[in-house]
Amino acid sequence: MTSTIESPALTSSEVSVPHYRLFIDGEWVDTSEQYVIVNPATEETVATAAKGGIDQADAAVAAARRAFDQGIWRSLPPVRRAAVLEAVADALEARSEELAATATREGGAPLYLSMGLNAITPVSNLRYFAELARRYQFEAPGPVVGGIAHGGVIRREPIGVCAAIVPWNFPLALAVWKIGPALAAGNSVVLKTDEKTPIGALELARELQAAGLPDGVFNVVTGDGEVVGAHLAAHPDVNKIGFTGSSEVGRKVAEAAGRSNLKRVTLELGGKGPNIVLADADMQMAVDGAIWGFLMHAGQACESGTRLLLPSSVHDRFVERLVDRLATVRIGDPLDPTSNLGPLISAAQRDRVLRYVELARVEGATVACGGRVPAGTDKGYWVEPTVLTDVTNDMRVAREEIFGPVLCVLRYDTVDEAIEIANDSDFGLAAGVWSSNVDAALDVARRLEAGSVWINDFHMANENYPFGGFKQSGVGRELGVNALDAYTEAKSIQISMEPDIQKRAYGLALSTPAPAWGD
Ligand code: NAD
Repeated sequence: MTSTIESPALTSSEVSVPHYRLFIDGEWVDTSEQYVIVNPATEETVATAAKGGIDQADAAVAAARRAFDQGIWRSLPPVRRAAVLEAVADALEARSEELAATATREGGAPLYLSMGLNAITPVSNLRYFAELARRYQFEAPGPVVGGIAHGGVIRREPIGVCAAIVPWNFPLALAVWKIGPALAAGNSVVLKTDEKTPIGALELARELQAAGLPDGVFNVVTGDGEVVGAHLAAHPDVNKIGFTGSSEVGRKVAEAAGRSNLKRVTLELGGKGPNIVLADADMQMAVDGAIWGFLMHAGQACESGTRLLLPSSVHDRFVERLVDRLATVRIGDPLDPTSNLGPLISAAQRDRVLRYVELARVEGATVACGGRVPAGTDKGYWVEPTVLTDVTNDMRVAREEIFGPVLCVLRYDTVDEAIEIANDSDFGLAAGVWSSNVDAALDVARRLEAGSVWINDFHMANENYPFGGFKQSGVGRELGVNALDAYTEAKSIQISMEPDIQKRAYGLALSTPAPAWGD
């Protein structure tokens, strides 16, 4: 292990912004190619980062394999592994303001969101995984079974080398959802960050090293998804892949994982979340809830409530209120604490969102508000909060993930119809139900095809509850009490307690008793 804790960033006089390197086998590694990390609000350069390729991915996997085979980390008692995760949580907590500001600069989320999702949430998630590691049954006596008498032991063992691939929207939180349980269970990890947002993961590597994680147990590579991500998904020496991203890429990852070595996969993919307002809802609260549901991080959240289902009886009044409330949203520099809405991650994402608004018009929807680049934003990648009405569920804008500040409003007349519309989707990640009658809302929630349903709120992803998708929104679950199951293999060891074995099984197949060994 290295004795001094280096910063991931270089600040030499040759570069006017920090330069981040990869973290492989306990060393900070540079490459000849670089990425420029751009602030999506200002288009200014935030930092540069080494651009990893196949060689760095291979080196990271080899280091992770060596560390796993040496077994220092996985042989530690779980409480010792938990202590390392807790030390990292403490270190990140102490740096939360700095980490939140950096996340806002590289990813564009308003500061309050970065503070929550890139600072407070990872800290609390790490503490949760540490606590899980303390009480997880890594080895437990199995039941003693009568009839054919045997007892045994049921073990959960680490899988080996786990690759984690994360997107740019909540880079640190989504990395911790994978790294936390993987390390708690004793695995080695190679993390591939999104090319646009690598900084949080590299800072995490620094804190893991400072907390005493052995070299090679955690490695971070950047790199293009189609190159480094695809290479990890197909790598024969990677045993598990935890992926968060689009359903399109998730499908490729699962295919490569299956074809290469049947690696275990957890996939957290896209969504087109229905947000159902029941007729008895507190409408004032539901209007603001609908905004929170679709506009958080400018709609760049997989679990967003992007299909708002309104009873026909309140539709027009609700939309009017919604549009009025959206006019009060302050669009501006996400580092300014008074800003409510930040930019999209890139020019490409902005243009994609604007194309969907055009498509909505062509499909017959009405743009009730927004749909443009806000006036006065000549730098950065902005789109106004946009509400589309007259949307029907067969339109592409209602079926495809837009990943921007765009809300589709649909009408329904009966609750059954609302549920049918909600479930008529390839996705099934998250949904909302608004009602003043919790029992009625629970009934609806039970009938929705979604991995998470929130009643009278939205975006309530919390470490105590499993998170993941039905249908094409994913495979497996992250968080929750079973999070460690996804990063362990179950092993049954069974011990015969039958004193005279021939009388039992072999006696049935072999008509004569076994001769004595010396005969
Ligand atoms: P993306 O699928 O394009 O990229 C995600 C990650 O995969 C990136 O690190 C990228 O470099 C990598 N990648 C790209 N091609 C790859 C390949 N062929 N093989 C392996 N890795 C590859 O997603 P994005 O546009 O960056 O992120 C937004 C998407 O992520 C949305 O669809 C959103 O719904 C989804 N998402 C899901 C969750 C969830 O928990 N379900 C959370 C956040 C985001």
